[in-house]
Amino acid sequence: MSEVSLKCRCGEVEGAIVDLAPGRFNRLVCYCDDCQAFARWLSRDGAPSITNDRGGTDVFQVWPSHVRITRGRDKLRIVRLREGGLFRWYTECCSTPAGNMLPSPGSPFVGIPVAFVPAVDTIGPPVGAIQGRFAKGGCPEGAHPSVSAGVLATSAWFLVRGVALRKAKGSPYFADGRPLVAPRVLTVAERDALR
Ligand SMILES: [Zn+2]
Ligand SMILES: [Zn+2]
Repeated sequence: MSEVSLKCRCGEVEGAIVDLAPGRFNRLVCYCDDCQAFARWLSRDGAPSITNDRGGTDVFQVWPSHVRITRGRDKLRIVRLREGGLFRWYTECCSTPAGNMLPSPGSPFVGIPVAFVPAVDTIGPPVGAIQGRFAKGGCPEGAHPSVSAGVLATSAWFLVRGVALRKAKGSPYFADGRPLVAPRVLTVAERDALR
């Protein structure tokens, strides 16, 4: 068992992912157009980009019940790229991404971009790269154009166990079944401007 700390760039928001062990997390690089749009949206006021030079976001996927936010919870905000889209959390103080999830307190996963996980390398490297067809300059070497069967199977198993083990319970992103803040939903024009 181990844990790894969470910290936004400016330090106002802090927390940890606890009780980590093999099989309890997935680390992946996602090149999808939505993750790229979110990254661009975060940088709209000049915050440093969270992607690699091909547009990939390195994401640490964990079960919400293992996430603790110990400081600055009131700084968390949500943006959705579209009505019905994922909750994409970020910090209001410095636009650090803080977790992508299904828009429900029952989401069995939260994908935390490693910009919020300063010591992620102590846990292990990414196991794969997905949605490479959206990458800048074509599919990067080693990335799958969409999702490999191996990553799909690993992710499905992770989610099934997350549901079965009630790993959404105690998610720090919700209180009384509601998200901590009302999400901001981008307009079509706002979203298109990020493509
Ligand atoms: Zn901050
Ligand atoms: Zn993505």
